[in-house]
Order: sequence, then structure tokens, then C-alpha cells
Amino acid sequence: MKLIINTKPYSFQLTKKLTTSQGVISKKIGLLLQVIDSDGNSGWGEVSPVNGSELTKCIESLDLIGRTTTKDAIENYLFDLPGSLAFGLGSSLADLDNLYENKINFERFDILNSSYLLPTDIDPLESIIKYINISNKEKSSCTIKWKVSNQENNFNEEKILQKILNILPVNFKLRIDPNGGWSRQKAEEWSNELKNEPRLEWIEQPLESKDIEGLFSLATQIPIALDESLVTFPYLRKAWKGWQIRRPALDGDPRLLLKEIDKGCNKTIISTAFETGIGSRWINHLAAKQVKGKYSCAPGLAPGWCPKGSLFSNDPKSVWEAV
Ligand SMILES: [Mg+2]
Repeated sequence: MKLIINTKPYSFQLTKKLTTSQGVISKKIGLLLQVIDSDGNSGWGEVSPVNGSELTKCIESLDLIGRTTTKDAIENYLFDLPGSLAFGLGSSLADLDNLYENKINFERFDILNSSYLLPTDIDPLESIIKYINISNKEKSSCTIKWKVSNQENNFNEEKILQKILNILPVNFKLRIDPNGGWSRQKAEEWSNELKNEPRLEWIEQPLESKDIEGLFSLATQIPIALDESLVTFPYLRKAWKGWQIRRPALDGDPRLLLKEIDKGCNKTIISTAFETGIGSRWINHLAAKQVKGKYSCAPGLAPGWCPKGSLFSNDPKSVWEAV
């Protein structure tokens, strides 16, 4: 089947800047994709990498594929493309497949049931106290995610941890994410501090993505979730039996991730990379499916971090027209 690929660049500011041990994200840039078949039907996708160099690679790959192509050619390329481009093209093809087979009925997900990502530029303790009060009233998620190893702030995170544990209600869960910023020694210290703490859900990517040996070893002491390592070494998606943070927008063809979640063998958590409404359709659908599965767990959709407006609409055409 002959296809035409149209693209539109987009950008938006996050509502607050996100500081991690790897740097600061305050703005997202990417591409919207519209793939049109010979009958004039459209499939929709989004290329939403977190780092700018991947976006450049995606644009080069799109030039290589050509703007007029075929379904078979795209399917053949998908596996070798950067994950974020494979996500965009895979989701466009899924829309076109859906016209004839109607396989996917996109589900919504109530973002209040997502884990709560603490702001990174103010004292986390203040935010936690506020959130505990709000969540009691609004019946929102009791899972809090704290990004630590923040290079911009001089918070004494060890002291803050003690204060958090002093006030965190028993029904709350805490996820701690150093984004690969800890040394083995530091990871050992935090692990010793937290290993008998029932409110700790997991520590996410404590060591740099390449330190596989260190990560496997820590996982024998405390629950560890992998994130960046799964992007660097996709084979770990099969080999790692602990929690896996999967960001569909970076992960590749979403039809494969959907199959994986339907099978329900992995402890998968769906997480956002801050998408427009076109990408969010998939993130929400995968999150809704995951939550109904065997290893049900609050997804990481970062409530309140993306602005509002037509760019975040559930209707792909409105998103396309909003740019
Ligand atoms: Mg993470």
C-alpha cells in the first residue's frame, strides 16, 4: 500500500522545569506525523524524544525513508529506527490497520490515578505535605515519586528522606528516582536505610544505565526498577525480572509493547516522556491496560506537568491543526 508521510514540528513548555541528575528539561520539541494512504485515510503519530540529538537522527531517518513510501517499507525499517521514530510510525500504521481490522479501542486513563511527580525546584517535603492533604480530599493516587540526586539544589536529601518517612501515611508509597546519578557506595547507603521500609515501592535506576552488574546486585537487597538501562540495552526488557519503567514514546513500535502488556509477563510501569495528545492516546491506552493486568501499578503520567490546550486534545486531528 502506497503511503505519504507528512510532518509538522511542535514545541511546548512544561508548566515547571524538571531537574534530574542528568540535566534540566523545561521544553519539549518533536514532530507530529500524519501518514496518509491512497484512499485518503490518515494515521497519526508523534516523535517525542527527550534528547535533541535523537530528534536529528529521526529527521535523517525520515529523509532516508522518503516522504512517499509503502506500508511494507515502513514495517521493514521499524526495528532499526530510533525508538521515538518507531513509536511515531508504528502508531500511525496502527491507526491505518484499525480502519480495516478495528483491533484497538483506545481507552482513557484518569490522570488522578497516576503517581504524583514531586516538583524538583522546591523543598520536596512542602510538596508532599500539600499533596497528602489534597489527595485525601480528591481521592487521588497515594503514590509519590521523588527525583533525587538533584545537582542544582543543595538539599540534604538524606535528612529530607528521614523527614518524609516521619510524615508519610502508612497507605502511601514512595518511589525514589536518582536517574542513574548514584555511585555504588551511595546506592548501598540508601539501600541500607530503606531495605525494611514497607512504604518504599522501589528505587528507580539508582546506578548509571551501563552498570548492569551493580543493578542486578542491588536488586537482591531492595526493589529496583530499571528505566534508562532498558533504553540503552533493550535485551533487558526480557532479562530483567524486577519492575520495568517503560516510556512508550521512546520504546519503539507501540503495537509490540501492547502485545507485551496483554501477555502480562513483565512487571511493566507505563511512564510519560511528556507527549502531545497524539502520543498520549497511546500512553493512556497502555496505562489503562497495564493497570487492569496481573502486576497492576500506578503509571507515571506526571499530572500537571504539561500545559492545557488543543495540542493535548484526545482527537489527533485537533492536535494536528493546533500546530
Ligand atoms: Mg526514571
